[in-house]
Amino acid sequence: MFLHAIQTLMKGRRLRCALYFAMAAALVITVRAQTPAGTGPGSGVSRELARSRAARLSDLHYDLAFDLERGSRETHGVETLKFNLKDVSTDLPVDFRDATLDQVKINDHILPSELRDGHLLLPADTLQLGENTLSLRFTSRVEAAGAAITRYVDKEDGSEYIYSLFVPMDASMAFPCFDQPDLKARFTLTIDAPTAWTVISNTAPVRKTSSGAVSQTVFSETKPISTYLFAFAAGPWVRVHHTPGLSDVYVRHSQVKRAEPEVPELQTITQRGMTWLADYFHQPFPFPKYDMVLIPGFPFGGMEHAGATFLREDAILFRQAPTASDRFGRDVTTLHELTHQWFGDLVTMRWFDDLWLKEGFAQYMAYRAMDALHPETDPWKYFFEDIKPQAYGIDETEGTTPIFQDIPNLKDAKSAYGAIVYQKAPAILKQLELRLGQAAFRDGLRIYLAQHAYANAEWSDLIAAFHQASGQDVKSWADAWVLRRGMPEVTAVFACSKGQLASLSLHQRDVLPDNFVWPITTDVLLQEGGGGEASRSRMLHATLDKADASISVPRDTPCPSFIYANAGDYAYGRFLLDSQSAAYLAPPEKTDARDVPLTQIREPFLSSQLFTALWENVRKADFAPSRFAQLALIDLDHESDESISRILGGHLATAFHAYISPDGGSGLRATAYEITRRRMLQAPSLGLRIVSFRTFVSIADGPRAWSDLNDLLSGKLTIPGMELRPLDRWNIVGKLISSGSPLAADAFAAQQKTDQSSDGLKYAWAVQAGRPDSAIKADYFAAYTLSPKDPAAKPEDWLTQSLRPFNSWNQQELTEPYLKRALAQLPEIKRDRKIFFLGAWLGAFLGGQTSMTALDDVHAWLGQSDIDPDLRRKVLENADELERTIRIRTRFPE
Ligand SMILES: [Zn+2]
Repeated sequence: MFLHAIQTLMKGRRLRCALYFAMAAALVITVRAQTPAGTGPGSGVSRELARSRAARLSDLHYDLAFDLERGSRETHGVETLKFNLKDVSTDLPVDFRDATLDQVKINDHILPSELRDGHLLLPADTLQLGENTLSLRFTSRVEAAGAAITRYVDKEDGSEYIYSLFVPMDASMAFPCFDQPDLKARFTLTIDAPTAWTVISNTAPVRKTSSGAVSQTVFSETKPISTYLFAFAAGPWVRVHHTPGLSDVYVRHSQVKRAEPEVPELQTITQRGMTWLADYFHQPFPFPKYDMVLIPGFPFGGMEHAGATFLREDAILFRQAPTASDRFGRDVTTLHELTHQWFGDLVTMRWFDDLWLKEGFAQYMAYRAMDALHPETDPWKYFFEDIKPQAYGIDETEGTTPIFQDIPNLKDAKSAYGAIVYQKAPAILKQLELRLGQAAFRDGLRIYLAQHAYANAEWSDLIAAFHQASGQDVKSWADAWVLRRGMPEVTAVFACSKGQLASLSLHQRDVLPDNFVWPITTDVLLQEGGGGEASRSRMLHATLDKADASISVPRDTPCPSFIYANAGDYAYGRFLLDSQSAAYLAPPEKTDARDVPLTQIREPFLSSQLFTALWENVRKADFAPSRFAQLALIDLDHESDESISRILGGHLATAFHAYISPDGGSGLRATAYEITRRRMLQAPSLGLRIVSFRTFVSIADGPRAWSDLNDLLSGKLTIPGMELRPLDRWNIVGKLISSGSPLAADAFAAQQKTDQSSDGLKYAWAVQAGRPDSAIKADYFAAYTLSPKDPAAKPEDWLTQSLRPFNSWNQQELTEPYLKRALAQLPEIKRDRKIFFLGAWLGAFLGGQTSMTALDDVHAWLGQSDIDPDLRRKVLENADELERTIRIRTRFPE
């Protein structure tokens, strides 16, 4: 396996920091009896442990030295940790797991190098009031996967890159520490590494001294930061487009050419975002510098280490021909991580139950910043299309949680990450800003950031700041939205008389059986005419605090053709079309675009909202998926908005692969082939052609489509203005493989020969998981269940990439037998994998199934008594879509 190809070990004279020798010299012999078994703090970091330590400890400073060698699966380090104590009555646990210790000394006492349940216990009688000094040596793991420090070998030039990723509590896999967000510390870092390497960390290096093949880089002391925000990256990174006054961007050596045209755009949005955010927050950028490092195979889109954000290389350097949506998404990712420097890094949540505070605001502020910097991109339409549906998709399931999530132990914090935090939290902030007003919302944030700078805070602190800024009571609103799970489903009911609107009311219903009622502020659109040029609209502002709310209607309001109760998308909830509006917008049987008002709406945001509302009717099994597909195709044939085309293309794929049975909709499938093919080749803008290409690949099936795909690969068929990039090509090859095309083998061989890059190897491995062959499935599943510590284990991003092909929608007979085993694997995944892997795993294994047998397997797993509650919730989240699919197919058998 190439990631473990051992390279010649560089054994130059190692530079050691003076600390190491000082430690070895002064020995005071104190041997202390071990703490009796069973009295330790248990594994992970419990909330009780965190609280007790936060009450005792202050003024922390870590002086750390790591020794990074090429090809080595471990790093040796030296640490001095200074801290103040105001209580020495009990032992003090220091977190460190999956690693080893040596020469442990606390104050003048030598301790055994013993770890218990992932902790080093500092006995009470070795501690002193005031300053304490812990010094030790440690060895921790550097692996391709499953470690806090990851090694990546670039197949293109053999270069090796090492980076740390500690969120939420993996700093304690790398070095001994108090691994909780509210014990902020100043860090001083020294790294010994091959001289050819560049090392990047939270602060700028103060010196680099070289001794032949090995160099030592010493970094200046950080501001107080949480352990999960401390980071370093080492390797032959190249600083691309270095420009004084702009952030530096580091890229691996082999990707410099790809990066050169993209980096200036990244630097510009960062620079403009920094100026705008500093002004909005009324706080200068809080750290001494800001770099971005593009990490290959990074498991997240980005991670906001203070002063040194790590971004997934593929999120910045597109592997596919990019659309406007892709470029918008890249800017949002960049601004999201940048916002965290204030919201998360400067002011950090006290505990991970308030994870949403940093994620919700980073996400919301990224869109708010885009609205200020690039209003022409229509950010709030993207917010509606890309943020909210993911939140609704979870919040309508029994697996959902409140935004505020109880986390008794940090080892369970990974499960808190998901759409509720990343999508629902920003969505309710949009509603909150509407309620408070823009100025009070901004002033509240300013108060909060100023009051808690370089420290920690909780949601209650932010509520207090909003109260101070606005004079409004936010608490009851917040209790409903932050502490309660679920969401409302809202429908309008209206009646007309003599051409006038006689009455209008809004009805809200809890989508879950909790019967909860939410406070909602919304704008109701009343539209006369179809939304074309001759149409007129009126807006009524409405506030709901009960299940049925009657809206006062001004006199002489004409009877509307249709009503949409969440214009501007300020409210959070599933807003359905009432039966009158649905019948008007999408009249039954009509197939000519001119007779279908839904496809004639001129305003893209409204058009997107109405299609989404109708799609929700489909997902509720109230509207036939085949009719929706028909309407989507009528619209797609002339749609001029790129992201509406993208969204409808996604719904088409879901309809064809899941909601409409494989035997049904043959005429529709043929129409879809014709329309998406034509749009891919002839749509008026490149973005529309690229989006149509992706839909075409996604729904392509049968010899005609396969032949087109093959012609796209060979260049016989070309899309005007679009050059296929490697991932576009691999997606085509993957499609030919998973659909069992006889053209697949040759296409694969040709593509494999062309693309020998590290990413090419990953894609080649991933697409083959889609081969309709039981022996192949067995091989891949064996690879999935290998421990990440196993030398033969594949990197995590390879596994992630292959999960969807493995579970191709048309291979359920082959994959359904693995569903039970996939569920049984969840505890290991939770323990060993990075944050988002579990969601990707469940999404793929459950998402590939549509049968009752599969649902029975899921129910059998859920019926066990001894499963972790957070895993149960994650399965319930994902099972919902399978249940929906079965319901839709039963109601509309086609
Ligand atoms: Zn974030």
